[in-house]
Amino acid sequence: THFGFEDVPLGEKQGRVDEVFHSVAGRYDLMNDLMSAGLHRLWKQALVSMLRPSRTRPFRHLDVAGGTGDVAFRVLEAGGAKTSVTVADINAAMLAVGRERAEKRGIERAEFVEANAEELPFADASYDGYTIAFGIRNVPRIERALAEAHRVLRPGSRFLCLEFSHVDVPGLDAIYEAYSFNVIPKLGEWVTKDRASYQYLVESIRQFPPPATFERMIEEAGFRRVSHRPLTGGVVAIHSGWKI
Ligand code: SAM
Repeated sequence: THFGFEDVPLGEKQGRVDEVFHSVAGRYDLMNDLMSAGLHRLWKQALVSMLRPSRTRPFRHLDVAGGTGDVAFRVLEAGGAKTSVTVADINAAMLAVGRERAEKRGIERAEFVEANAEELPFADASYDGYTIAFGIRNVPRIERALAEAHRVLRPGSRFLCLEFSHVDVPGLDAIYEAYSFNVIPKLGEWVTKDRASYQYLVESIRQFPPPATFERMIEEAGFRRVSHRPLTGGVVAIHSGWKI
């Protein structure tokens, strides 16, 4: 069965994405652990360790498409008492799970804001760091999200994006293909009773631009010293750029 997401017109893409995350919000974190065999934790840790939030000066961080707060909580752990995080996500259901998790853990320095990555409701140069993990792939107009990232960052700060990438290890690529096309939709159906959402996930990964193309897009948004670092044989990559 083919989900046919690539035929969805741009104007409808966001609506479909919202349905996907609304549907899976409650079991989202569990599914991440199952699908990646826990690897997403290491990937997110690698992302946060590249961020190096200041432990002495106030550090205002923005995590876009931050969903259930997973990256944000790690940023708070890595930073000092003067670190605060804004989690911005377009989906109220994902944010509700995040708020609840923050409350349970007694986390106070995180705020949850319903916002579109393409049109952030924040002032120019108001953040010291920007992350987006497994989020930019879902945004219909990626260039707009990148331009907004550049706008809200203060000069001298870093943009970091963790995203599925292109497996470049012979042998692993075939295993990865088989795993994504066969196992993930079944796992999704089993755990969330929603196969279509996980079929969307697999297709959106396949359609995401290759690392060199994505790097150019980051540069076009105004970032400098753009680079990327593949992890786990290219299953994911961390893309980086600096606002000068
Ligand atoms: N960053 C979290 C993580 O790594 O666990 C969540 C990633 S989840 C795969 C993708 C998130 O992107 C969802 O919470 C979804 O609501 C959000 N999203 C999709 N389109 C968005 C947009 N245009 N602006 C902001 N968030 C968006």
